[in-house]
Amino acid sequence: MTFPPSCQGVFLVFSGAMQCTEVDATPWLCFNPHVEKDTYIALGSNLGDRELNLLRAVAEIGKLPSGKVTALSSFYETSPVGVIDQPPFINAVLRLTTGLAPHDLLNRLQYIETAIFSRKRTICRGARTMDLDLLFYGDEVISDEILTVPHPRMAERRFVLQPLSDIAPDLIHPVLGISIADILETLRSDETVVKI
Ligand code: AMP
Repeated sequence: MTFPPSCQGVFLVFSGAMQCTEVDATPWLCFNPHVEKDTYIALGSNLGDRELNLLRAVAEIGKLPSGKVTALSSFYETSPVGVIDQPPFINAVLRLTTGLAPHDLLNRLQYIETAIFSRKRTICRGARTMDLDLLFYGDEVISDEILTVPHPRMAERRFVLQPLSDIAPDLIHPVLGISIADILETLRSDETVVKI
């Protein structure tokens, strides 16, 4: 029996009256306790071949176990926010339907940033080959020292809301209680966000 690479969690063997035993050896059943969720991931790049970087990131996210990319926005060229003395970004948002747990997903996104794109965190919010942010994990609200979902700054960022609105205009923000289209409609910001 072969198992997908995603089977690295808990292995259970059913025996007798359906009792479960955790084992290290060959598993009979790979048990993933997480039901599939629609998650939304923001992508941004302002170093190197930015469009190619985004396409590569979409492909890498698509290769993650227990899921598939089910929507992808247009690509946008956007002015930097915060640290403005840096090149413009290309931004997009995708939907990943996944059985990965939230922190596992974040770990894997960070692995893509560092291992695939050799991202170095030198200047906070500075130039980067790839930035991946987890915007939503279903309608879950998570706040701990590692992960905050919905992403805390997304509602102020046109470079996130505009591509997100391409693929999920009616999605309700689980904390604000209004749709992405409505958040975008009321946003006042001077960022430049141009579809390419
Ligand atoms: P950044 O350097 O902007 O990619 O920020 C990465 C840091 O933000 C890491 O320490 C993450 O643990 C943390 N973080 C918290 N919530 C999120 C989120 N929803 N998506 C991505 N990173 C997050």
